[in-house]
Amino acid sequence: MKAITIAIDGFSAAGKSTLARQLARRLNYAYVDSGAMYRAVTLFALRRGLLDNRLDEADLVASLTQVDLKCKKTDSGGEAILLNGEDVTAEIRGVAVSDHVSKVAEIPEVRSHLIKMQRAMGRAKAVVMDGRDIGTVVFPDAELKLFVTASPETRARRRCDELVAKGQQVTLAQVLQGIKKRDERDSTRAHSPLAKAADAIEIDNSHLSKAAQLQEAVRLALRRIQPQKGGKSKSKP
Ligand code: C5P
Repeated sequence: MKAITIAIDGFSAAGKSTLARQLARRLNYAYVDSGAMYRAVTLFALRRGLLDNRLDEADLVASLTQVDLKCKKTDSGGEAILLNGEDVTAEIRGVAVSDHVSKVAEIPEVRSHLIKMQRAMGRAKAVVMDGRDIGTVVFPDAELKLFVTASPETRARRRCDELVAKGQQVTLAQVLQGIKKRDERDSTRAHSPLAKAADAIEIDNSHLSKAAQLQEAVRLALRRIQPQKGGKSKSKP
């Protein structure tokens, strides 16, 4: 069976990670959450005091060699991200990191550093990676590219419910504002802006259940992994 690379891009809180994780599990592929890597670098910068008033870019770039990132499977089958050996999986989802991550992700040296790591992680194929520039920059030759969207209001509601369930004190208006700000910054930055690759297939999940979304992604992946078995319709991609 052919091993392929699957790139999943899209806006903040569009449900990329859930889809990517489930798809990887279904195909027995590795899953890489590239956003978690940008978040971990942001946490590193926050802890170093490099984001106190304004972002100290030069210092952060000079410290990148001290940022060791590892992704690891947890006992419960999830993924953890380790920053210099410490499990920061929960902390990188907090408001402080979310508020600053797009600024950090604009720095070309941060991007090239992480893109190099991401390409190494995907060298053996059989990988599902989600982010903003996976289909356009990291793996432009990926066999399957998905672009996941939902309305900003739908995304804010989902993210707000998630954060509240984790005990964080946020309002829907706050989350919506943060999401819109991040969308704008991610889509308009000079380096690797969030964009749909020309050959990506768009999935708008505003009115789609997680199960239906996964079913569609599995169908598309199987068509590429086993072209003769993946589906009957010739008109669908
Ligand atoms: O996916 P997530 O929302 O966790 O990503 C956090 C931020 O990391 C994004 O808003 C974006 O600024 C940045 N990012 C990026 N390129 C990626 C993944 C994430 O610039 N491939």
